Amino acid sequence: MPRQRRIGLTGGIASGKSSVGRWLAQQHVPVLDADQYAHDALAPGEPAWQAVIDRYGSAVLKQGSNPTQPALSREALGSIVFAEAPERRWLEQQVHPLVRARFQTELQRLNSEPITVLMIPLLYEAGLESLCTEVWVVHCTAAQQRERLIARNTLSAAAAEQRIQAQWPLERKCQLADQVIDNSGAANAWKDQVRALLMART
Ligand code: ADP
Repeated sequence: MPRQRRIGLTGGIASGKSSVGRWLAQQHVPVLDADQYAHDALAPGEPAWQAVIDRYGSAVLKQGSNPTQPALSREALGSIVFAEAPERRWLEQQVHPLVRARFQTELQRLNSEPITVLMIPLLYEAGLESLCTEVWVVHCTAAQQRERLIARNTLSAAAAEQRIQAQWPLERKCQLADQVIDNSGAANAWKDQVRALLMART
């Protein structure tokens, strides 16, 4: 049996990973989503949720959520960790091992699929290449990335810049990639390229 293709789908923040990932899921390719796993790791009652509350207190609690097991405010947590690199590293240390373990569980479950996609924004930063048999990086220009991020997350230019600077430069990721998906054109203009890559025998 040919070995399973495990496609790592990454890029910069707002470069278009989720757009490509959503389309792949519509093509019935199983897409494993690191953001979802990170989100699950911080759900009320989870050990990482407790660790975050122990560290930051009520500042990171979502207003109006269940007082016995309050949800975390992503915005409040984001403002802390993107403003201070050591705090970001601390949070990553809590969450990344759980995300990696979750990938291993899901990959085991999907063992008989010919292709799986691992959508991982911080694939290179977290050293998760070894989970993949190939890596695709979704690319757009720096100006587009900034504009799309500001529009999607309604961030100030400064806050958008903090989030971009918190990741490896997109160009560095492109140098390491097996494939670079061009998302500098119209929305969905990458579809032909992705369709061809999906069909390719590797
Ligand atoms: P990521 O998952 O990499 O953070 P998204 O797929 O969410 O990025 O895309 C970021 C934002 O840019 C979204 O609001 C999306 O609708 C928009 N977008 C994606 N591709 C394009 C494109 N080619 N042209 C214009 N806007 C785009």
